[in-house]
Amino acid sequence: MRKSYASWLKILALILLLIVYRDYLPGEPSPFLIVNLEAASKSSIVREIGTFIFPVVWIGSAVSIILCPFLSMGILRIPFASIFLFSWLFDVAILKVGQESDSIGVPNENMIDTGTLTLFWTNRQRLLDALETYSEFMPMIIAFVCILLVLAWKPSQKISIRGKWNIVACLPIFIVVAMALYSRGGTSVFPTPIGLPIRFADAVVAVAKQDEVAEHFHARPVTLHPEESRFKKIIMIMDESVRAGFVNSALFEKLGLIDYGATVSDGNCSHFSRFIFKRGLQPADLPKAFIPNGLASEEPTIWQFAKAAGFKTVYIDALGDGVFHDGINSDELSYIDEKYYIHSQPNYLRDFDALKRLTTVISGPGRAFIYLDKQGVHHAYQSKYPPGEALTFEGPAVKLPVNKDLREYQRDLVGRYNRAVDWSVNRFISQLFSHGLPEDTLLIYTSDHGQSLVENNTKLTHCTSGSITVDGEGLVPLFVYLRQDTPFSRTLGDNGKNFRDKYSHFQVFPTLLIALGYPRDAVTESYGSSLLDPPPATRGFLKGGDVHQLEWQMVK
Ligand SMILES: [Zn+2]
Repeated sequence: MRKSYASWLKILALILLLIVYRDYLPGEPSPFLIVNLEAASKSSIVREIGTFIFPVVWIGSAVSIILCPFLSMGILRIPFASIFLFSWLFDVAILKVGQESDSIGVPNENMIDTGTLTLFWTNRQRLLDALETYSEFMPMIIAFVCILLVLAWKPSQKISIRGKWNIVACLPIFIVVAMALYSRGGTSVFPTPIGLPIRFADAVVAVAKQDEVAEHFHARPVTLHPEESRFKKIIMIMDESVRAGFVNSALFEKLGLIDYGATVSDGNCSHFSRFIFKRGLQPADLPKAFIPNGLASEEPTIWQFAKAAGFKTVYIDALGDGVFHDGINSDELSYIDEKYYIHSQPNYLRDFDALKRLTTVISGPGRAFIYLDKQGVHHAYQSKYPPGEALTFEGPAVKLPVNKDLREYQRDLVGRYNRAVDWSVNRFISQLFSHGLPEDTLLIYTSDHGQSLVENNTKLTHCTSGSITVDGEGLVPLFVYLRQDTPFSRTLGDNGKNFRDKYSHFQVFPTLLIALGYPRDAVTESYGSSLLDPPPATRGFLKGGDVHQLEWQMVK
């Protein structure tokens, strides 16, 4: 008796899904698009056949998607229903997050490109953070799981596809998969439930290939020769997602730090911004340096310069949970003498545990170059400060989005962002200097990129591209601590006073090299101007998620 309801419930669930998805349907790719089989097909005949059969396969695959909940064979029904449904869910979620609210209706195109999926897969260890940030999708996820249970449930005898018809009903799906394999992912303009998994598989393969390529890259040895020794300890702190203006500059002043104000970061996305920073890549070579091999380079890393100058190299990583991130490969790690991975819980204690480690390293004998990848305030912000912590400093107001719901979302988000930065940066800095640093120490602090706070009318916080990227995504704090009274320190101090809000990350790498003892002229010749020079005439940051398709955003 119970059984006879199963198929009717499935039909109901499908109708419900189509109602929910109806606004997005016109954005689905057309079955009459010119098929892209060129990627791997050798003969034009194959292409001709492809153009002819593509609409047939497309329509067939749409029919298969609708029929799949009625397959009697669980081994086909359950996996296909799950893949199709989650592709739909993923598609709607990504479109909703990325959509500009002032645009009318839903986006014209539903196809989430492989670049976006690659970025998602590269940052898969941040999936839980993303779920926390966009928690408004939880009810939708739960609803989808319920629908999935209905669709995956065994259909009733009467309304079901039985025996060999199971294979017939799935045939278009098999053909789609074969076409995708043949074109190596080039053919994916099928209905979202099946087109998206193909692009996703393509992205997973691309990331694996990228990792493999990067693994085979070895940095060239350092050719510059260090001359004078300026510091005993050099500390580079790279924060995460901290936007200029949200840190308490009055506190910096009180602590006697040189504050360069709003500084343009190398990029608006962690992986390539951090990668460029540690290798001193130059604007003139970017973004084209990433086109042939993605995030891979033979340029010597900052670690090699530090080692060649006689420094012990120490890496404190509070960011990556001990896994490779941001283009770090085995070669890069081989230049590091001591590595410390901090993964304490709760999250908001991580930076402070990293600080304890930093303090221990600083108090050790000998020269050391210490690079701290701070956890910082990557979304979700609410896990980056203890509940109930009082706010001591608040950043500037940001531009309001046009839509009322988004304004409310922004108010809540900016409130949490302020708390996160206050705890993770202002409090961290106070604690760092509370015991004082050794006399011959240089410390440079900055962040990998800034943050977008709904001013662009989307909920995306960084790694955006095109017209929605706001300057705040590429504006970060930059300050320097040093106590010596030398021409080096005086010039840095003067430039901080005279040229506030004028520098970029591209001036930091050369500054580090000069601080490590490399001759200024030789450094400038190879790596451009430093913080010892007047600021650059123009400054900009690279934006995007896919390193093969980055663009510049110039900032005043
Ligand atoms: Zn980042």
